[in-house]
Order: sequence, then C-alpha cells, then structure tokens
Amino acid sequence: MDSGVFLETSLLLGANDPPPVLEKNVGGRSPFLLTSDHYGRRLPKKLGDLGLSESELERHIAWDIGIAGVVERLSDHLDAHLIAQCYSRLVIDCNRPIGAASSIPVFSEATTIPGNEGLSRQDADRRQHEIFDPYHVRIDQAINSRAREKRPTVLVSLHSFTPVYAGVERPWHIAALYQRDTILPPLLLRAFRAEGDLVVGDNEPYAVNDATDYTIPVHGEARGLVNTGIEIRQDLIADQSGQRQYAERLARIFREIEATLFAEVKA
Ligand SMILES: [Zn+2]
Repeated sequence: MDSGVFLETSLLLGANDPPPVLEKNVGGRSPFLLTSDHYGRRLPKKLGDLGLSESELERHIAWDIGIAGVVERLSDHLDAHLIAQCYSRLVIDCNRPIGAASSIPVFSEATTIPGNEGLSRQDADRRQHEIFDPYHVRIDQAINSRAREKRPTVLVSLHSFTPVYAGVERPWHIAALYQRDTILPPLLLRAFRAEGDLVVGDNEPYAVNDATDYTIPVHGEARGLVNTGIEIRQDLIADQSGQRQYAERLARIFREIEATLFAEVKA
C-alpha cells in the first residue's frame, strides 16, 4: 500500500466531515473572547452513532442544548470573536484534560457509550489530534494575536446545563463558574442578581477546577486573563425565542461590565 493512501485512511475525519472549529467575528473588536466547548453534536462519519440511539444523541450528554443559538447571537451583538467546537463531547470532551475519565466518556449520566469502550490508544490519539487540539490551538492563537496587537482579552466560556440531573432538579437559571479569577465572576454575579428575575448560581451546579475543566484553567488562568464560565439552564434556551432573550440580556450585561472593568483597570 502506498504510504500516502495509508495516511489518508488512518485519519478520523474524512473529506465529508466538516472541520471541528467554528468561528464567528474573528476580527471582532470586543475585549470578550467567547468559547463554546460543547457547541455541537456532530460525530465523525467513521464513528457511526457510537452505538447510541438518535434520542440519546440529542440529549444533554452529547452537547450543551441551546447554547449555539445564544453564543452566535451574543458574538454578533458584542462584535466578539467566538470559537466553538462542532463535534460532540461524546467523541472527546474539549473541556476535560486529556486522559481524564470523562475526556472520552464510557458513561455519561446513566448512559453507556458503546463506541467509547475499549478504545485503543491510537484511536484516542486521533480524537485528540483531529478534534481537541485544533480547537485549543485556535483559542491559543487568538489570544496570542490579540496580545501582539496589544488588545485586551477577557475569556468567557459559555455552557448550558440540564434542568434535571440524575433525578435532581436544579433551581438556578444562570450561573457564573470560576476558580481563581476574583475580578469578573463577582461583577457578573452582581449583574445577574440585579436583574431581579433570575435564580443565580454561584459556582452552581458546578465549580471550575483543574481536574474537571480545561478551557478556563489553561487559556484563562494559566495565561493570567480575566475570565469566567457561564452556565444557562437548558429549558430556558431550548427555542429561538429563549436564545434571543438570553443573548440580548447577556450582551447588555457584558457592555455594562466592560465599562466597569476597564474603568477599574485604568484607575
Ligand atoms: Zn458545557
């Protein structure tokens, strides 16, 4: 066999698979750099359906339901660069350290993912090299080029959470998630609470930490960027009207925060 042919066939993504990274407003002027680790639920054709039914592949275990419609609109409202991952977190989770049990999950909530069982090292490496790495390389490049241009970067990583997990209902509408940043999350929490109609989660239903997160620790904290995670409950953004409302609300809040943040930085 010709080695060129061998290389071609050994790739995970084929000619008919779309690229992993979606970007919007690449030259956007906002200081906010938006990331969406669980934006899409695509599967590489080679992986078939991972042994799951279509209904399982539409659930929150496969992606962050509703977030795509929020982050795209928010990116437009703010003229903010958005970097999003189109492949499902069931292929490889772009917000988990490589090698973590939940990186290529064999179980998610109560579902077994047959296509992830007994994966060879080589197959796991392909998922990393073709899906995880290009996404994080792009975030890294974007931060580097902004630094070269002496443009500020505030990293905002957007997610959505299921209203009921393992039988337990979650009361929060929206949350700020953080670990080491002491600047942006308090501003955001204050702004969310000032809305008056929101049940606000402070590091609920999750907190950021190095073992279970990747984007904020690696791109935000390790590089010294002001950063936060945001989580929105999925039933509130399940349709376009909810996505529009939350995008508009977040755009307004972020404009206010931008003014405060940069006034404080200059002071
Ligand atoms: Zn997520």
